[in-house]
Amino acid sequence: MAVKQKKKNKRKAGIKTGDTVLIITGKDAGERGRVIAVFPEKNRVLVEGVNFVKKHARRTREDRKGGIHELEASVDLSNAMLVCPKCKQPTRVGHIILADGSKVRSCKKCGEIVE
Ligand SMILES: [Zn+2]
Repeated sequence: MAVKQKKKNKRKAGIKTGDTVLIITGKDAGERGRVIAVFPEKNRVLVEGVNFVKKHARRTREDRKGGIHELEASVDLSNAMLVCPKCKQPTRVGHIILADGSKVRSCKKCGEIVE
């Protein structure tokens, strides 16, 4: 049986929960927000305050509010760019191997380690 080649389309985005990202395309282009969750298998991120969608909720119990709820929906990873905490610029993420062999993220703009 032939060994299946691993698909390369699972891009490592370098974006983690807690990062600040800039939305570069879509209706929220230009918005910045904190990453609440990353879904690498779907190539999507959930960003606080970005990409609100209205959900119609039915009142099912007395203690639950009915009506319209606004919730963040995930955005595609390719639509989000990491904002460097050092230079505050949206940047691509680089990787640096430290002397002890550990891999860290770096800012392609200012070269600082992003952690
Ligand atoms: Zn930077």
